[in-house]
Amino acid sequence: MSLSGKLLRPQNRALFKTSLCATIRFRQHGFTHPLTSLQCGATLQSLTNTKSFKQGQQLHAHIIVSGTLEDNTYLSTKIAAFYASCGRMTQAQVLFDGVVLKSSFLWNFMIRGYACNGLGMRSLALYREMLSFGQKTDNFTYPFVLKACGDLLLVEIGRRVHCEVVVSGFESDIYVGNSLIAMYVNFDDLALARIVFDRMLERDLVSWNTMISGYTKHGKAREAFVVFDLMRKAGFNVDGRTLLSLLSACGCIQAVNQGREIHGYVVRNSPRIYNKFLNNSLIQMYFDCNSMVDARRLFEGVQLKDTVSWNSMIAGYARNEDAIESLRLFCRMVLEGWRPDEVTVVAVLGACDEITALQFGMAVHSHIVKKGFNENNIVGTSLINMYSKCGSLACSCNVFDEMPNKNLVSWSAMVSGYGIHGKGREAVSLFHEMVASDIIPDEGVVTSVLSACSHAGLVIEGKEIFDRMAKDYNIKPGLAQYSCLVDLLGRAGQLDEAYELIKTMEVNPTSDIWAALLSACRLHHNVELAEISSQKVFDMNPKAVGSYICLSNIYAAEKRWDDVERVRAMVRRKGFKKPPGCSFTELYNVVHRFLVGDRTHEQTDDIYAKLDDLKQRLKEAGYKPDTSSVYYDVEEEVKEKLLWDHSERLAIAFALIKTSPGTTISITKNLRVCGDCHNVTKFISKLTCRDIIMRDIHRFHHFSDGSCSCGDYW
Ligand SMILES: [Zn+2]
Ligand SMILES: [Zn+2]
Repeated sequence: MSLSGKLLRPQNRALFKTSLCATIRFRQHGFTHPLTSLQCGATLQSLTNTKSFKQGQQLHAHIIVSGTLEDNTYLSTKIAAFYASCGRMTQAQVLFDGVVLKSSFLWNFMIRGYACNGLGMRSLALYREMLSFGQKTDNFTYPFVLKACGDLLLVEIGRRVHCEVVVSGFESDIYVGNSLIAMYVNFDDLALARIVFDRMLERDLVSWNTMISGYTKHGKAREAFVVFDLMRKAGFNVDGRTLLSLLSACGCIQAVNQGREIHGYVVRNSPRIYNKFLNNSLIQMYFDCNSMVDARRLFEGVQLKDTVSWNSMIAGYARNEDAIESLRLFCRMVLEGWRPDEVTVVAVLGACDEITALQFGMAVHSHIVKKGFNENNIVGTSLINMYSKCGSLACSCNVFDEMPNKNLVSWSAMVSGYGIHGKGREAVSLFHEMVASDIIPDEGVVTSVLSACSHAGLVIEGKEIFDRMAKDYNIKPGLAQYSCLVDLLGRAGQLDEAYELIKTMEVNPTSDIWAALLSACRLHHNVELAEISSQKVFDMNPKAVGSYICLSNIYAAEKRWDDVERVRAMVRRKGFKKPPGCSFTELYNVVHRFLVGDRTHEQTDDIYAKLDDLKQRLKEAGYKPDTSSVYYDVEEEVKEKLLWDHSERLAIAFALIKTSPGTTISITKNLRVCGDCHNVTKFISKLTCRDIIMRDIHRFHHFSDGSCSCGDYW
C-alpha cells in the first residue's frame, strides 16, 4: 500500500497532521534507515517511562512513514500506551480502537490514562468493557479503577469494585490495598479505610502516609497520631509527606509540644528532609497553636522565604487577633520587594476588617486594581466585606456593582453588609434580586438576611423568608436560622412567641438560642422569662459570662439589688473574668489601640484632659450616668469614674483631638458597646459636631446630631 493509502486509514489520518511536522524534524536528526519493530518498541518503552512526548511523537511519525506500524499489534499497543501515559487520551484512543487483539497491558494503560487525567467516568466505562471482553484484570488494573471511584465519590460502585478485588484475590497486593485506603478516605469512610489498612499483610510508606493524611484531612488529629505511633513502632522512617500531615494535625488539636518535636526532627534531618513547604507548615502550625513567638522566630531565621511564608505570617497574625502586626508585615513585604498575590491581599483585607482600618484597606484596594486582582471573585468579596465592616457601605456597593461574575458568596457578603448597617429593607430586596437571578440560596445567606431583618425589626419579612426556606430553597432550618428568628421576635417584643418557637423547634436549642431570648428580655424588661432562659443558658454552658452579666443588668434595671448581688457572687465564686474591652481608631493611616483605662498612649495626658472637658460639657447638657453597666461592687462615684475609663471613650477623645468639626470618626470595639457609652456617644456627636461610626461586636451604630441609627435597640 502506498504512503497516502496508509494515511487514509482513520486511525492514522487523525494523527497525520501533528506527525507531519514531527517527521520533518525527525528526518533532520538523521534517521535514514527504518528501525526494526524491536528497536522501536524498546525506544518507545524508555520514552514512556520518561514521558518524553515530543520524541515519542517523532518516533511515531517515523514508524508510520517507514511502514513498520502496518498490522503491528505489538507496536500499536506500545504507542497507545505511550500516549496514554503522556495524558494524550485522544491519540491513545485512536490507536487503541485500531488494535484488534488488545492485551491486559493495553487496557491497563488506557484505564490509568483516563483515571489520572480527570476522566474517571471514561476509565470506569473502559474497565466494564474490559470485563465484558473476558479480559483478565490484575494488580495494575485495580489501583486506577479505585482511584476513579474515589475521585468521583461513587460510593456504591467503589464498594462493588472492592468486592471484585477480593474475588480476584488482589486484596493482599500492596498497591491495590493502598488504593483502597485512599478511595475510602475520599468517601470520608475512615472506619472502612482503617479496616483495609489493619488487614494489610504488608505496608509501605504510602500506606502509612495515606492513613495518616486521611485522618488529618477529616479532622481526626488524635487518630492520626495513634497511627503515627504504630508507624514508628513498626520501624518506618517518616518522609516530608508524613510530616506535613502531622503538622496540620498538631495545629488542629493545638498540640504545640508534638509540633515542637516534629520541628526538632526536621532540624536534625535537615538536608534530607527540609524544604520550604515544611517550613511554611511549621509556621502555620505555630500560629494554629497560638504560639506567635515561635512562628516569628522561624520566619525571621529562615533564608528560604517565599510569598507563601509571608502569606502564612500575615494571615496568622490576623487570625490570632493581632491585625496591626499583620498590616505591619504587609508593609514590610512590599518594602522588601516581594510581590503580594491574591492570597496576601485577601488576608490583609481580613486584618483591615478586624480593626476598621479603612484608609489602609483603600490603599490595598488600589494595589489590587493595579495588579488586576479585582477580577478575582474571592478578592472582590473580601473587598465588599472590608468596606462594609470598616463602615463604608457605599464603597461595598460600588465594588459589588462592578463585580463581573457575582457568585453566591459575593451576594451573601453584600446582604450581610446591609444587615450589619441596619439596612434591613435593602438586604431583603437584594436577597430577592439574588433569587430572581437564579442563584440558589444556601444556609449562610438565609442567615444573613434573617439577621438583617432582626436588626431592622422587619418581623413580617423575616418570617416570610423563614417559611420559604424549606419550601422554596430546600434548606432545613438549622440552629443558626432559628437563632435569628428568636432574635427577630425577641427584639420586636414578641417574647412569648419567641419562647414558644424555642419549645417547638425541630432541633435541640443550644445555649446561644436561650442567650438570644435572654438579651431580648433585657430589652423588654421581662424578668420572669429572663430567669427561665438564663437558667437554661447556665445549665448548658456554665461559662457563659455574658449571660450572667445580662441577668445581673436585668435585675439592676428593676432595682432588685439582692438578686444582683446573688448573680455577682456566683460569678466571683466561679472566678470568671470579662474579656478586657479594647477599641481602635484609624487616623491618617495609623491605627491606634486603646484598652480600658489605658495610659500607655503617647498623648495620654491630652486624652484624659479632653475626657475631663467632655465630662463637664456633657453634664451641662443634661447627661446622667447609667452605672448599671459597671460590673463592680463599689460606690456610685467610683462607678462613674470607671465608666469614663472605657476604651471607646479614650478612642473617641483621641480622635476628637486629632480631627476638626464636620469630620466622621470611626471606632471599633471588640465587645458590645455598653449602654452608658452609647448614650455618651450620642451627646458627643451633637456637642462636637462629628458623625461617629461605631462598630461593636454585633453591628454598626451611626451616631449623628445626638441620635443613633440603631434606634437604641442593639
Ligand atoms: Zn462603655
Ligand atoms: Zn446605636
